[in-house]
Amino acid sequence: MTVAVLALQGAFLEHEQMLEKLGADYFEIRQKKDLDRPFDTLILPGGESTVMRKLLLELDIYDTLKEKIISGMPVFGTCAGLILLSDEVEAGVPCFGTMNITAKRNAYGRQLGSFHTDADFGGLGQVPMTFIRAPYIAEAGEDVKILAEVDGKIVAARQGRQLVTAFHPELDGDTRIHEYFLNM
Ligand code: GLN
Repeated sequence: MTVAVLALQGAFLEHEQMLEKLGADYFEIRQKKDLDRPFDTLILPGGESTVMRKLLLELDIYDTLKEKIISGMPVFGTCAGLILLSDEVEAGVPCFGTMNITAKRNAYGRQLGSFHTDADFGGLGQVPMTFIRAPYIAEAGEDVKILAEVDGKIVAARQGRQLVTAFHPELDGDTRIHEYFLNM
C-alpha cells in the first residue's frame, strides 16, 4: 500500500515521520506530475487551508484528487485537511467538499488557539490531541460517525473512507490514529 502525502504547505513532514515509524510506503505530492505515480491512500496535512486550496487549484492538482476521494480512496485530513474536506466552512471557503460536515475555522479564538489535551477517540481509548489554530466540526450529517469530542465539540469524525481530526496526531508520538487510518 502506498500513501500519498499532499506536500504543498504545512505539517506534511510530521506525517511522513509517522508513516516511517509504521513502515508504510509513501511519497509526496508537490506538483501535477506526482499524480502519475500510483497511490492507494491520501493524507491532507495541517497548515493553512486557504493557501492549500489556492495551490491545489493553481497547480491543477485539485480535480484528480477530488475524483479519487469521490471514488472512495481513503483520505485522512488533519486540521486544515479537515477544512479542505468539509462541504461547508464557517469563516472560510469549501475546497473538496466531499464530507457532510460543517467546519468552523479558527474556532477556538485567540487565547485557546493552541492547546493540548487527552480524550477518547473511537475505540482507541484516550489519545493525545494537539490543537493549533484548530477548527472544530460544528455540524455533522447522519452518515458521519463521530469519533471524538472535546468540551462538547466534535474534533474527529469519519464518513466512509474519509477520516478527519481537528487536532494534529502527527505531532504526538502516538501512532494509533495513523494505524487506524491505514487499516481503513
Ligand atoms: N487555521 C488553519 C486554517 O484555517 C488550520 C490550522 C492548522 O492546520 N493547524 O486552515
